[in-house]
Amino acid sequence: MKKEFVVIGLGRFGGSICKELADQGMEVMAIDQDEDRVNEFASIATHAVIADTTDETVLKNLGIRNFDHVIVAIGADIQASILTTLMLKEIGVKNVTVKAQNDYHAKVLDKIGADHVVHPERDMGRRIAHHIVSNNVLDY
Ligand code: ATP
Repeated sequence: MKKEFVVIGLGRFGGSICKELADQGMEVMAIDQDEDRVNEFASIATHAVIADTTDETVLKNLGIRNFDHVIVAIGADIQASILTTLMLKEIGVKNVTVKAQNDYHAKVLDKIGADHVVHPERDMGRRIAHHIVSNNVLDY
């Protein structure tokens, strides 16, 4: 059976997750409060929805509870990211992955029950530094 995902926040990070999931044949509901961003993903995602996910009624009406995995990729607005995550867990979503902006944000996300907290910029920076060092060692 196809897995069903929701991606909230269609910036560079959320947008790239959404595209990759769709390329892999997954069902993806893409959500953003910005109409232009949602339009960009209308032909990529299974459903593309304009919505503010800090509104609990919106989340319930979209039937978010029935999806296998929700990715919260809201960036700068840490309050919206926390509130969205809190409500997703209250509604009973089993698997919630959230992008953290910093360590304080990550700590709060852990406390409110986020299942996976990711730090894409920090982790990519580390990976690149490791690559650079190991390439230098090999080049020596
Ligand atoms: P990236 O680095 O991935 O591009 P970013 O860290 O710059 O992202 P933002 O652009 O601040 O992050 O947020 C990502 C997306 O989340 C934006 O398209 C924004 O419209 C959306 N977003 C922010 N708040 C909400 C909300 N309450 N409901 C739905 N979407 C939201």
